[in-house]
Amino acid sequence: MSHTIGIIGGGQLGKMLALDAKRMGYTVVTLDPDPHAPCGQVADDQIVAAYDDLAAIEQLGRRSDVVTFEFENIAIASIEHLETLQLPVTPSSRVLKITQDRLLEKSFVRECGIATTDFERIDRMDDLLRAAMTVGFPAVLKTVRGGYDGKGQWRATSLTEAKAAFAAARGATLIFERYVPFVKELSVIATRDATDRVVSYPIAENTHDAGVLATTVAPGRVARAVEKRARDAAIVIGRKLGIVGTYCVEFFVTEDEEVMVNEIAPRPHNSGHYTIDVTQCSQYEQHVRAICALPLAEPELYASAVMVNILGAGHGDYLAGVPALLGDPSVVLHVYGKKHAVARRKMGHFTLVVDGPVDDAVVARALRYRDKLTWMPLLPDPLKAPAS
Ligand code: AMP
Repeated sequence: MSHTIGIIGGGQLGKMLALDAKRMGYTVVTLDPDPHAPCGQVADDQIVAAYDDLAAIEQLGRRSDVVTFEFENIAIASIEHLETLQLPVTPSSRVLKITQDRLLEKSFVRECGIATTDFERIDRMDDLLRAAMTVGFPAVLKTVRGGYDGKGQWRATSLTEAKAAFAAARGATLIFERYVPFVKELSVIATRDATDRVVSYPIAENTHDAGVLATTVAPGRVARAVEKRARDAAIVIGRKLGIVGTYCVEFFVTEDEEVMVNEIAPRPHNSGHYTIDVTQCSQYEQHVRAICALPLAEPELYASAVMVNILGAGHGDYLAGVPALLGDPSVVLHVYGKKHAVARRKMGHFTLVVDGPVDDAVVARALRYRDKLTWMPLLPDPLKAPAS
């Protein structure tokens, strides 16, 4: 059994991972450039360093029995460095390489025999004309690397708009994707261990607002056949990647029930937060189990869940309205402890725990709760007030 877990990345996913790891008796060391990062608030120790600081990464590796990461926009060289030193790290640099690059990722999914939307690579303005002919419009252009939460993404309905997107990307390689007229977005959270066992959670149904996850309903309200196809696809993807740990596969489902992969996240995922509150073993605990060679748990839902993200508004760092929210006993609140509620930044979430199936009225209730939360300026600390 490993005793110390090193986590590269100190965001909320790292924090929730650390909380489960601590409950299970592990020591946690995190690495993040921000000394106030959420994970550092609950970890035993934090190395304050850049993700590509190889000396710091090595220090983390030497202090840990196993190193993992909580987000994928980290330098591949950092993971390779640990591998070269034969310091245990999972997921591997191979998994990171594929999932960091939207072109490699979509090609990989297709090699698995699983559908994606049509796409083309765009390096030069000339490539747009070819993509317009082969893929067509409406389209979504995305930076191949580094985009998240809707950043580095442009919709285009014409060549003129595609050219404007290309100009806005300032020379970055793009993927030109056919827009999918989806009826729902789904995700499957799964965990694979080193013995090739894979467990998957019931499908989740997601809504996004300008590319940022807004709500998750679990279990997702889709036909059994759709759920089966998505969960089977997620399992194939996990096995072919050879990932060890928790991962997420995001899907579009079309009107005629075609299921297409949009993205793979090689780590616990925002759409799996609900697993903390309505299952006996969260996506974070499963990750700990997988990377520490403990048996995986077959996930079961005790109840249904509606998860709602709480985003910053860009004015005020104090979340008002919490007492009213917690007046509903079925609400579980999670606040990440980020200092500044920057506009559209993920600051926390809450889960509405629901007996039986979720209907639209329950989702509307959850959204009403969210809309009553507001960000206010922090009140001055009376103890620090200047003497009059
Ligand atoms: P992504 O960063 O790829 O996860 O995209 C963020 C969100 O943008 C998705 O969850 C969708 O809501 C939307 N989106 C991205 N790609 C497409 C596409 N090809 N067709 C339709 N919607 C898309």
